[in-house]
Amino acid sequence: MVKSWTAAPERWVTIDHSALAHNIGTIAQSVKPAQVMAVVKADGYGHGAVEVAQTAVAAGATWLGTAHVREALELREAGIAAPLLAWLHTINTPFEAAVAHNIDLGVSGPEIEAVADAARATNLPARVHLKIDTGLSRNGAVPEAWDALCRRAAELQQSGLVRVVGVFTHFAVADDPVGEPAVDEQLRVYHEAVDTARKHGLTVDVRHVANSPALLSRPDTHLDMVRAGVAIYGLSPFADRTATDLGLRPVMSFGTTVAHNKPADEGTGVSYGYAYRCETPTRLALIPCGYGDGVPRIAAGAPVWIGGKYYRVAGRIAMDQFVVDLNTDRDDETTAPVGAEVELFGAQSGIPSDAWAQAADTINYELVTRIGTRVPRVHK
Ligand code: PLP
Repeated sequence: MVKSWTAAPERWVTIDHSALAHNIGTIAQSVKPAQVMAVVKADGYGHGAVEVAQTAVAAGATWLGTAHVREALELREAGIAAPLLAWLHTINTPFEAAVAHNIDLGVSGPEIEAVADAARATNLPARVHLKIDTGLSRNGAVPEAWDALCRRAAELQQSGLVRVVGVFTHFAVADDPVGEPAVDEQLRVYHEAVDTARKHGLTVDVRHVANSPALLSRPDTHLDMVRAGVAIYGLSPFADRTATDLGLRPVMSFGTTVAHNKPADEGTGVSYGYAYRCETPTRLALIPCGYGDGVPRIAAGAPVWIGGKYYRVAGRIAMDQFVVDLNTDRDDETTAPVGAEVELFGAQSGIPSDAWAQAADTINYELVTRIGTRVPRVHK
């Protein structure tokens, strides 16, 4: 198969590793002496898990975190040796492979028996972090089940099958944790849970609770380690503060080129359903990416940068393409010609992914994570 057609991508996501290293370094400095776990689940929030993990570790993250064991195994397969925690399991989770590859497991309840079985089968102790549900109502043991979980973990530790490394929880109120009573209450329940674990003889060396919003705004949540997700990617978890306000640099840029440029008359309907009509005679540029690439279908009106100028999405975004009204003279063939560089969001345009998230009625977390596999990641 001739592969030369793969040489120049037609649409691309650029991952800026110097920005990523800057963000990790900034966070590591601000949470010291707490350690930093770089959260690289969901393919590193769409940025490329292996590449992100490599840079994160080089830049000072001492732990990596994933939701699934399979995600963690992919990192091990890529030769990444850093401590790794995976926390969301099902009855089909490959615990044996996890134990064999030295992957720490979040444990919320009865799955501790399957984890112990994996330790028996591999003849290796399973490293676990017990999870307490302090109020998010997702995984984690509810407080009334906590004592029993600690007792069982201590028994399994005594028999050498399990080694309890940490205790963790996850916050429910992410956007504004300062002065938030729910966070205070979750912290109170958490500290009680750690005391209980210690009464059972578990040392609990790594206490960790903070996600990005907590680590950025509440030093009392740093404890022994923070689990930093969206912030390492240079995205703000807050509605009222940008990444720049937080001293973070966006890592992902989404680019392509103008595929077509043509005249349109006043009143011309644009894209499916004619949700947009040209108000004057104008020219339209065709941008060759759409919801098949993870560009949200409902982001009509989102900003687009073409060759140094700013425009807006006109009408519906389709699977593979969308249209921009150039608001220029019908005969102007020099504005945004075929081949002109386009950026939806990123470093060159300064358009934050938040602008696209807002247009699509979602959050930056979802926007970057959903950029599809059809768009090659260019790591620089
Ligand atoms: N910890 C856990 C358990 C998570 O599920 C996540 C992500 O949702 C994170 C940490 C990272 O959160 P954030 O991206 O807000 O930093």
